[in-house]
Amino acid sequence: MPTLDADLVARKLGYAASSDLILHLPMRYQDETRLTPLRDVRMGIDVLVEGVIVHAEVQMKPRRQLLVEITESAAPSSPHLYFRLLHFYPSQLNQLQPGARVRLYGEVKPGFFGTEMVHPQLRVVRENTPLAATLTPVYPSIAAFSQNAVRKAVEIALRQADLSETLPENVLKLVAGCGERSEPHHALSHDDDDRSGSSLTASCGLPSFADAINALHHPEPDADLNALEMQTTPAWQRIKFDELLAQQLSLRLAARQRQKLIAAPLSHAQELENRLLAALPFALTGAQKRALDEIHRDLARPHPMNRLLQGDVGSGKTLVAALTLLPALAAGGQVAVMAPTEILAEQLYLKMCEWLQPLGMQVAWIAAATKGKAKKDSLARIASGEINIAVGTHALFQAGVSFANLTLTIVDEQHRFGVGQRLALREKGNDINAMHMPHLLMMSATPIPRSLAMSYYADLDVSVIDELPPGRTPITTKVMSLKRRDEVIGRLRDYCQTGAQAYWVCPLVEESEKLQLRAAEESYAELVELLPELNIGLVHGRMKGEEKAAAMTAFKAGEIHLLVATTVIEVGVDVPNAALMVIEHAERYGLAQLHQLRGRVGRGARESTCLLLYGDALSDSGRQRLRIIKEYSDGFTIAREDLKLRGPGEFMGARQSGQQILRFANLETDLDLLEAARNTAEHLLTQQPEVANRHLARWLPRGLDYLRA
Ligand code: ADP
Ligand code: MG
Repeated sequence: MPTLDADLVARKLGYAASSDLILHLPMRYQDETRLTPLRDVRMGIDVLVEGVIVHAEVQMKPRRQLLVEITESAAPSSPHLYFRLLHFYPSQLNQLQPGARVRLYGEVKPGFFGTEMVHPQLRVVRENTPLAATLTPVYPSIAAFSQNAVRKAVEIALRQADLSETLPENVLKLVAGCGERSEPHHALSHDDDDRSGSSLTASCGLPSFADAINALHHPEPDADLNALEMQTTPAWQRIKFDELLAQQLSLRLAARQRQKLIAAPLSHAQELENRLLAALPFALTGAQKRALDEIHRDLARPHPMNRLLQGDVGSGKTLVAALTLLPALAAGGQVAVMAPTEILAEQLYLKMCEWLQPLGMQVAWIAAATKGKAKKDSLARIASGEINIAVGTHALFQAGVSFANLTLTIVDEQHRFGVGQRLALREKGNDINAMHMPHLLMMSATPIPRSLAMSYYADLDVSVIDELPPGRTPITTKVMSLKRRDEVIGRLRDYCQTGAQAYWVCPLVEESEKLQLRAAEESYAELVELLPELNIGLVHGRMKGEEKAAAMTAFKAGEIHLLVATTVIEVGVDVPNAALMVIEHAERYGLAQLHQLRGRVGRGARESTCLLLYGDALSDSGRQRLRIIKEYSDGFTIAREDLKLRGPGEFMGARQSGQQILRFANLETDLDLLEAARNTAEHLLTQQPEVANRHLARWLPRGLDYLRA
């Protein structure tokens, strides 16, 4: 038999080298450390049994199979067990003859002849062949390799690999390794206070790396299989901690790298700011001022700002964005303002024009639909530096758009952009000098879960606007059955005839854009027919940019009473006179969406109402979502409830990033370890950098690219 090529197995399993196989961890284990006497076998349980063949025959019916009968001893009372092989080789036929002793591992089932195993793992043995000393690992594999081949390859790797300790005793002692864990808490980043060290409960500590690796590949016979499967044993804790530590170290190193990047330091543009603020009918809220102070401090540094501005819907992020532009504009730099949808970008564009044109600034609009001469003109004026502010969708960062002096980029609702788009945006200001980057301000109404903030965004600074502008009337949220739809439509008529405006959000059809469009058009047609007294408009995602803009402008101007819409109005749309929203089949929407939608009302002095209409097929989770949205108005609380229901799904593009990078640790359940790793990383980089390097050499021998995002 040719010797096994462990490197080949490793490569086929997706690793770079056989040494990586030490971290190819078992999915589960088989207990081959003890034999179960035949009289003790229980149905449905995997066991190792041994016996001597008393009968073997190839049957042709009901299908070709080899049926073998074994027993433990010659005593007439000795129980028998059958096993069947549906595929077998002639060599097996020769081996499996009466008198031969076999050891079988498999599940015991009731069979036609009596107790049986179908296709057990089987070995012909001599009497008193030693049993396994430890549990037998079952590895993830691919069709090309048998378990035995993978086991052998891992054995080779374990013998050859370096299992030496990377971490000093003091670190291992500090981390709880006994498997006890507190309930994971998804605190949100606005209470991301510095709790360094406090969450590390002193206890028996983590095992050494070598011990952990051995305990995972070859657990002791009395190991707690359940804890192993749940990945909560000290050995598992050690591996997860190591992985998280490597991630934290590399994030911090990448952050340090970024600190070396250069950006134009921008000073506070007091004069422009005074002029802008003087033109507003209101004063900044305390929270807006605080956020702005933090932003000013970032801008004054010669390194690019990397800040997230978080604030609930309606908290006034747009104004903070406009004020953030001023230092860049005063310094003669250009600013790009980007939003994920055209409607949103358009709203930003209008605000920027309203607030900044009076200060003598030139604002340009770039979207996918901008074509021909208009586009060419805009592009030329952006490239020449004549345009101070370019607002648009991601079209702003496509090829062909080039800035003369991009100094600051602002991204609204940034979590809706993919990682790729975010990267393209970072590269944009980077054309001329690789070390030079524009400042970056991101905005979002969706709070990042604390675990993600800590793991993926190690050096993201966060400002939170935790206060709504004064004078907002709270929104009353009502939940009712769609059976009362006619009644609701009747009340809508009266309501709109008083001069108020309303939104009608059509049922969500996720499966297809076409069906979504049809749902919107049907709702629209029906409402037009039922409410001939009202002017009714329609906006949906499939409309052309200008059509959408025309409908929105008419709604804003009060020419339309009732706007029928899909989720295109979910974010950013700002019409203070619209104070009623009806959401049809609200149970189909997610919590974040409902909250964003509802945030379109409650923006003016009028008392605002949101009616959530649910259909007959209301699931438990749908009911729960409606209860949460009715009960809470604060976005942070809703996001936390959402996390409880769903886990950290797609927050901040997590799906493409932080989550899949971790092979062993789980951001939802291993938050304690993550905190410990974060604190340890900080400690090591400042106090014991050689330890940090050693640890990274084991865990990330080939470096990681994603960290540059
Ligand atoms: P969001 O944070 O959801 O993007 P916006 O920036 O759209 O919120 O602001 C919502 C509304 O509040 C806008 O009409 C805006 O002009 C208004 N606004 C912003 N700041 C204040 C303030 N300090 N006082 C009163 N109204 C404000
Ligand atoms: Mg906004």
